[in-house]
This record gives sequence, structure tokens and C-alpha cells, in this order.
Amino acid sequence: MKQNNLQFNTKHIWHPYDSIIKPLPCYMIQSAYGVYLHLQSGVKIIDGMSSWWSVIHGYNHPILKNSLITQINHITHIMFGGIIHKPAILLCQELLKILPKKLECIFLCDSGSVAIEVAMKMALQYYSKSKNNKKIFLTIRNGYHGDTFSAISVCDPKNSMHTLYKTILPKHFFADTPNIFFQEHWHNYDIFSFLNLIVNHSYKIAGVILEPILQGIGGMKFYHVEYLKQIRLLCNIYKIPLIIDEIATGFGRTGKMFAYEYSNIIPDILCIGKALTGGMMSLAATITTKNIAHRISKNYPYKFMHGPTFMGNPLACFVAQKNISLLRKNIWKKQVYYIEQYFKNQLFLLLNHPRVYTVRVLGAIAVIECYHNINLKLIQKFFVNYGVWIRPFKKIIYLTPPYIIKKTQLYKLIYSIKLAIQNNTLFIC
Ligand SMILES: *Cc1c(COP(=O)(O)O)cnc(C)c1O
Repeated sequence: MKQNNLQFNTKHIWHPYDSIIKPLPCYMIQSAYGVYLHLQSGVKIIDGMSSWWSVIHGYNHPILKNSLITQINHITHIMFGGIIHKPAILLCQELLKILPKKLECIFLCDSGSVAIEVAMKMALQYYSKSKNNKKIFLTIRNGYHGDTFSAISVCDPKNSMHTLYKTILPKHFFADTPNIFFQEHWHNYDIFSFLNLIVNHSYKIAGVILEPILQGIGGMKFYHVEYLKQIRLLCNIYKIPLIIDEIATGFGRTGKMFAYEYSNIIPDILCIGKALTGGMMSLAATITTKNIAHRISKNYPYKFMHGPTFMGNPLACFVAQKNISLLRKNIWKKQVYYIEQYFKNQLFLLLNHPRVYTVRVLGAIAVIECYHNINLKLIQKFFVNYGVWIRPFKKIIYLTPPYIIKKTQLYKLIYSIKLAIQNNTLFIC
């Protein structure tokens, strides 16, 4: 039976970035509790990924689960055109409590990539009346903003799907990746490339878009807080909206509620997603200032032109509201700090390992960058056999565990990585 299910899967079901002819192996999952994934085989393994940054309080959290059950008894979905409901109001009220006062107009949407589309459209509509025809975005290399077309148009031009669609994507400006890391000494030269582009092309630029402090799938690098501060300053000088993509970094992952807080700045447009519902449902949002929202609404066509079918889904909104009220109890701060210290104590020891190029830690994020590409199929199997769920990419093994993870479980994740890097067969040399 189990074999049949896996065979059916292989033949008919697409998985992220995979082939239907020769896909990577999949593991059948039965259920999940806390930090554990229970496989069909009866084995339980520790999730080091939080299901791609999202399940921050662990699986099957009683408060989140019960909120869904409660909401199911009222209403699970309703169109948002001409209709409003309590879950959306409660969620937006809760969001405003954790956001700077300036960010007050909220667009609820279905996924991170859509939140990026919405943000870019907002910037374009904001400028739709300008004489200068501002249509181009300015971003930085090594970024990742999602898989839809506008999003990939601002993903790294080399190291992403951007390459595949290059000929049909709109051309945007890419500044050099920041080179000075989070903890290092700041030098102004790091901003020169960005500065150059904004000074020379500001009259064409509709918006600046980037991930704050952490560049995610584009390389898992943490850049200097001063870099983002200077970008804020330059956007102010040239009156260009600053779009901050907090889809991965938001909700405490980096040690701040939002990573932009490290630089003491406020974005003009903010995208959130991933952990917004504690990983319980798909939901994202794009939040902007009154100034931008009003100008969009004053320019032709006097409204913002986007409206997904599942906009403001009540089930997703209700659980997102509970997730944020859980976060507002501030237990995550201690949890994330503890994880950060533990990662630093354990993982910096690997810096001298011949296989390891470098180790980076910030908040509940650990990155082990190796010298060689990793054989994903083999290493995934290796990790599952050891009792952990870790999914590396390219040369990078990273951990983003649920905040509730305990010391012994963290130790097991780290030990499994120590074992993996001893094993030559898991690397493509
Ligand atoms: C995951 C991610 C996205 C895209 O979100 P989806 O929900 O996968 O569409 C965009 N930006 C960043 C930084 C992300 O990590």
C-alpha cells in the first residue's frame, strides 16, 4: 500500500523544483507534533526547517489548532469583495500592534510571491501619474523574492530562475551584493554600487526592493545593518518607496520581530508571509503607508488593482491573529536567543573543519556553507536515517528550527550535521 502511494506520487504529483520523470525521493508523512514529524514508517524525526521558516511554534500547537476548529464552525471562506469579517479585523488590529505606526494600510493575500506582486504593483500605481514614467525597480544581487514573474524579475540575475526567463522578464537594476557581514566593521564602499545606480537612474526607479539583513535562498548571508540604513536614507533623498521583503525573516526569526528593526528603519511597503499563520495556513500580506495608499487611490483608476479569490480567507486570518497574539507574549525572544547562543557555541567549532567554508548564525538561523555542492538525495536520506529533517541546497546546510525546540533536540540536529560533513559520499567533489 505504502509503495503504491509513493509510486502514484512519483508518476502524477509535482514537487517544488523537481522533475516528474526523475524526481528526488519523497517521504510519506502521517502527522506532526511539536518539533517532530511522524513518518508513515513509524519513525519520528526532528524538523530543523520549520517547514521553510513557517512553523515557528511547532506542529499541532493547541491554541492554533483550536482556533481553526472554532473558526470552522463559523465560516471557512467567503469572498472579500463587499464583505468583511471578524477574523480579518482582529488580524489587522493585531498586526498594527507589532508594526510601526506609519504602516497602516493592509492588503491580505494568499502567498509570499503574491505579496511581492502586490508590493511592486503598489509602487507602480503610486507613480502612475508621474511625468517620468517610473517603471524600473532597483534591488541587490543574490536576492530571492518568490516564483511568480514580477518576483523572479527581481531575484538574483544569475543564481535563480531569472536566468531561465531572462529574455521575457522586465529589466531592473541590480546593485552588487553587500559584502560586509552583520558583525563586521562597516565601510562606506559597500554601498557604492547601490549609490551609483540610484544617483544615475532615480528618475526611472519606481521602487527599491530587498530582503532586510538576511538574504535567504540567494545565499543565506547576513549583511550589515548600516547597509540598510543607508538604503533608507537614499530612498528618502530620491523619494523612492522602499519595499522590504520580510517573508522569511519576519516574526522573530532573526532575533527581532522584523529584521529591519536592526537598522532602525521603517519601510514604505512591507511584505510578510511564511510564519504569519505559524505555518498553519497559507497567508501573506502587503502593508503600506497612508501616504502611498492615498496617492494610489487618488490616481487613475482611483483604486488598487488586485483582488485574489481567497483574499482575507477567514480561517487563515483567524489562526494568524492567534499566532501573533502568541508572539506578543514575547516568549519567542528567550527561545530565539537561547537557540542563537547554542548554535554559536556548537557550530563555530566547525569553522576549522576542512569541508566547511564558513558558519553564520543570527537568531534562530544557522548556516553551514561548505566548499562543495551537496548531493541532496543522499544527504536527505542520511539525515532521515539519523532522525532529523534537514534540506540543504547547493553548498549550504542550514537550520531554522521551531522556536520551541529543546536543547537535546538542537544537539541532535547539530550532531547530524557534524556526522554528515565527515561523509565524503554526501558531497559532489
Ligand atoms: C518564501 C519567500 C518568498 C515567496 O513566498 P511564497 O509563499 O513561497 O510565494 C518571497 N520572499 C522571500 C524572502 C521568501 O523567503
